[in-house]
Amino acid sequence: MPFIREDFADVRADIYPIRLWTVAVFLFGVLPLAHKRQVGRILIGNEYDTTLKLNHQGITHYAALYDQSKYFDNALTRYYSKKDWNKFQFSILRSLSELLILKILVTRYPQLQAHQVSCHAAHEKEGRIYPCGNCEKCRRIVGMLCAHDADPTACGYSSDQVARALRSLEQKKVKQLGMDAAYLYHLLLQKNLIARNPHTERLAKPFEFIMKLRFDQQRSDLQDIPADIRQALISIYLEYAGGSVKLNNRRWEPWDVLNSAALNQPYHFESVQQESLEN
Ligand SMILES: [Zn+2]
Repeated sequence: MPFIREDFADVRADIYPIRLWTVAVFLFGVLPLAHKRQVGRILIGNEYDTTLKLNHQGITHYAALYDQSKYFDNALTRYYSKKDWNKFQFSILRSLSELLILKILVTRYPQLQAHQVSCHAAHEKEGRIYPCGNCEKCRRIVGMLCAHDADPTACGYSSDQVARALRSLEQKKVKQLGMDAAYLYHLLLQKNLIARNPHTERLAKPFEFIMKLRFDQQRSDLQDIPADIRQALISIYLEYAGGSVKLNNRRWEPWDVLNSAALNQPYHFESVQQESLEN
């Protein structure tokens, strides 16, 4: 493409190179396989923060995250239904923050976490893929792992990189929705992993709800996942989360999700799903 400079690969950038429709690329890559194996449920790992509906001068938009939002999942499910494909797309992580997801990953599945490469500039060395250790995402991952008392060297960071990442968190911003970052800084300060300075103190906030299961009508609605998996799934999450909360008048209030009526309400596409199963 003529508007892309030829030396783009050498330009050091701390952001996603192109922030457009990445999920759709993964998704349409996996669809033929799902089709061949007759897989009926396609799960994408999108967390609480990725469903956003905003308005800019009368134009509705999704903060460049449409493909990670539940609106995209539901639109695709309707598309599959129109095609008679018997497929349903959703995320089982919508009630979790990035920090809580990482806690579950590293505590429950350490053997999988060892393969985690969440980096904007990963590279290959002797047949293994390593994170760069320098980008914004690496800083965030190292910070989160340390905040959970986990060892970032398990997934390919060197001790030097870990120390450097923590030092730069003291100076630079992490790119995360405000509240996640605020709680991460709170944990890091609490554990004396980063220095107390005007920057870190200004960012740190004790938002305990970040480590709880969060439910609300828009971003994390039980009816966006099939009813038959809810109880087992939420029980697993609750082993690691500090409880569950529901949004009420813009405040997070304790909510006993496992004993709520909402637990058994039908999935938005339940009737379609039932018909497909019967066919
Ligand atoms: Zn990186």
